[in-house]
Amino acid sequence: MNGVPIPFNEQQRLAKLVGLCVMHDDARGELRPLVELASAYFKAPICLVSIVSDRQQWFMAKTGLAADSTDRDVSFCAHTIVHTQPFEVLDASVDPRFAANPLVTDEPGIRYYCGVPLMVEQAFAIGSFCIIDTVARPAMNATDRAMLASFAECAMRIIDGIRQRNFLDHPTGLLNRIKLECDVKDRLARRERFSLMAFDVIQASTLNEVVKALGYNFAHDLTLQIKERLVRQVDPDLQLYRISPTRFGTLVPAQYDVEALAARMVKTLQEPIECHGIPVPLDVGVGVGHIGESEGDGDGADLEWLRRVVAAADAARRNPTRYAGYQPEADAAQRRAFILLSSLSTALLGDDQLQLHLQPRIDLLSGACCSAEALLRWQHPELGAISPAEFIPLVEKTALMPLLSHWVMNEVLAILRRTRGQDFSVSMNVSAGDLESPAFMDALLAGLERHGLSSTRVQLEFTESLLVEHLEMVQQQLARARAANIDIAIDDFGTGYSNWAYLSRIPASVVKLDRSLIQQSAACSRERILVRTIVELSIELGYRVTAEGVETLEQLSHVRALGCHEAQGFLIARPMPSAAFEAWLHTAGAARALA
Ligand code: C2E
Ligand code: CA
Ligand code: CA
Repeated sequence: MNGVPIPFNEQQRLAKLVGLCVMHDDARGELRPLVELASAYFKAPICLVSIVSDRQQWFMAKTGLAADSTDRDVSFCAHTIVHTQPFEVLDASVDPRFAANPLVTDEPGIRYYCGVPLMVEQAFAIGSFCIIDTVARPAMNATDRAMLASFAECAMRIIDGIRQRNFLDHPTGLLNRIKLECDVKDRLARRERFSLMAFDVIQASTLNEVVKALGYNFAHDLTLQIKERLVRQVDPDLQLYRISPTRFGTLVPAQYDVEALAARMVKTLQEPIECHGIPVPLDVGVGVGHIGESEGDGDGADLEWLRRVVAAADAARRNPTRYAGYQPEADAAQRRAFILLSSLSTALLGDDQLQLHLQPRIDLLSGACCSAEALLRWQHPELGAISPAEFIPLVEKTALMPLLSHWVMNEVLAILRRTRGQDFSVSMNVSAGDLESPAFMDALLAGLERHGLSSTRVQLEFTESLLVEHLEMVQQQLARARAANIDIAIDDFGTGYSNWAYLSRIPASVVKLDRSLIQQSAACSRERILVRTIVELSIELGYRVTAEGVETLEQLSHVRALGCHEAQGFLIARPMPSAAFEAWLHTAGAARALA
């Protein structure tokens, strides 16, 4: 650099500057009053808080100057940072160091300059607080020099406050995720290759339980202890970040022995943490991802690198070593889930992706089709046909489920309107979310009434598992359905706990035997006894019994012999679009299937 002095500790100074993550501007205007006050006090037209980086100086706060930054080559502040005292230039036009400087010969025409270094840890000057005049001045008196030094100190406190607020995780005092993002961006800009190692120490749900059972103070102390353990194990030259309440991380240079570090961390984090005399078991997963190759020329702003490592750490819990690199297969499944969930809203709004198919259910005595099950079909524009067995469990974890169920309900109401006067019912599958609030039932009852439809034409199917967690509200909603004469069926019966006492509290009138039972019982004698017992007990308790998944004539005669009332399955008919179902009904498909 041309004639600009370089501080003796330049490398560490630059590292400190990066560590401070000093912002490029004073976005919330916290430094502005200070520069204005100084400008007024010193009667100087220009006042700056200038940060000197390796090639530039940028003005974090300024008054009286248009530029946001200049080259370090022409920077007066670059001189200030090698001094410990105020650095003063009385008339730059006659000072050989500055006479030819474009900031002197051209705009803004600097003549007088006085700057005080902005010090970190009393050893590193990251920039300067300076006042500038366009006319020469006599030397500053001691009082004013002290005053300028105080302004610099205030500026530094504000800069540190901004850093603390933006880049520190307050409970632990570690750097936070925003800082991690800054640091990764910075390293990518320098074309460095490195890895991010994430330590997922405890399941978020477990931490949540700890908070509920033992309180916030306990959870806070637990977090501090986990941090202490991490700090002890991570080499002192690596920075620790807190990525989320349960995840920590560190950036590891390319030459590092990543596996050895990971193994050490797993070992230390597998020991329970004793907090206030209570041992809390951790559930650690350590994930590693290399950063720099797949980012290409990107700046990492999409945080894809973070997502991958966090996913790897979570997947690592299922590895005996508790350590995992980025796993494309597991990740592909997650990405697919993400694509599905993020494209469902569009599917719900349009009319060409979602379709409701109907699968007949027949009465085993008369052979008549008494009802049909509504089954969702999704034709995704890029991924093709998606099975509900894949997307329903995903959607159930999101707030989209009520919307999807409403869509299904509206389709069912439309089918019932089209087939007014016919005496088959349509059964809908409902999820936990649908019965956790009155909204679904409100809408269903209102829809039936609005269109003058008999509520006996609707059935609801739900699985036992739905009851386990939400019994009370679910019970209330089911009671409303029963009161309105809507039939209720327990789906996939025989696969869950089949807790009879529990089930008797549910106003169900139908049990649907899961197809795995039907298919095994035709072949295996133990299953046969089990199924026979379930059917007998169900009949005795007054349920109508439907056998699901009947695929062969043998299975059909078997379930009939068992005393099942109804059957559903590919043998009778596959799920089909509602128009095809109506046609199937008219050609007495049921009778044919039984022939
Ligand atoms: P489910 O309620 O047990 O539905 C029966 C599933 O068995 C359907 O799968 C049906 O196509 C299939 N099936 C019927 N007969 C046979 C057979 O003879 N053999 C075999 N192998 N399979 C048969 P599908 O349509 O793929 O649906 C899967 C699951 O997705 C459903 O299981 C249900 O839990 C869920 N689902 C489907 N539509 C909806 C919906 O509208 N809302 C909700 N909440 N869940 C739905
Ligand atoms: Ca079902
Ligand atoms: Ca079922």
